[in-house]
Amino acid sequence: MCSNDKINDNIKVVLDNAMNLVQKSELYDSSYKYNIILCSHTFYNKIDDKLLGIGPSARSRLNNLIIKVRIDPKSNLAFPTFHKECEINLTYLIAHEMIHCLQAKKYGIMKFNPFRHPELWKLEGYPEYISKKPKLSNKDYSLTTEIERYINLENKATDIWISPEDGGCEFPNYYYKGRLMIEYLMDIKHLSYDQILKDSVSEATIFKEMIKWIDGAKKSSVMFPSVQPNRQ
Ligand SMILES: [Zn+2]
Repeated sequence: MCSNDKINDNIKVVLDNAMNLVQKSELYDSSYKYNIILCSHTFYNKIDDKLLGIGPSARSRLNNLIIKVRIDPKSNLAFPTFHKECEINLTYLIAHEMIHCLQAKKYGIMKFNPFRHPELWKLEGYPEYISKKPKLSNKDYSLTTEIERYINLENKATDIWISPEDGGCEFPNYYYKGRLMIEYLMDIKHLSYDQILKDSVSEATIFKEMIKWIDGAKKSSVMFPSVQPNRQ
């Protein structure tokens, strides 16, 4: 274990909250043990960058969940510097990486590794979906509005990088798009993640279907304003 920051009660609270999110996943495994490695600006981090290139702010490998950037558990923030300097919710970041660990645990490291993995929207969309779950369960949240917001952001973007959250962090668009597609397939179509992984329908086809669903959902909300998509 390497860490520049003292392990204190604040990080315990963050880890408990991340664990509570991950427990909602069908991939959750109570026997799984995570090695959480906090490694901003350490010797280990430099070796890691040399081996795999200077990459994202966190990664998971076997049971190791490696947070490579400066964190402030008290304010529940992490400060990535890759791509651009920004701040991100630390609980979400850890929950996202824990889900990557569980993907590899359930389906095998040969199917989930940096070089070989399912399509990016399936790979990154699911950890995003699980880590953002509290926001998606909020009564003011609307998936149709969120999809329209994504389309708007994508139209305005000049490359694949978009900034879907407060804090200024930018991510390749398949993080946000993937989350919305997973959310649609799980909450509206009631598929499991396992079914989604096995499904061979293309990303473009599902996205088109989702746009059609928005149009239908809008029409029905005009006719039956009380009808809301089924959400748990
Ligand atoms: Zn990821």
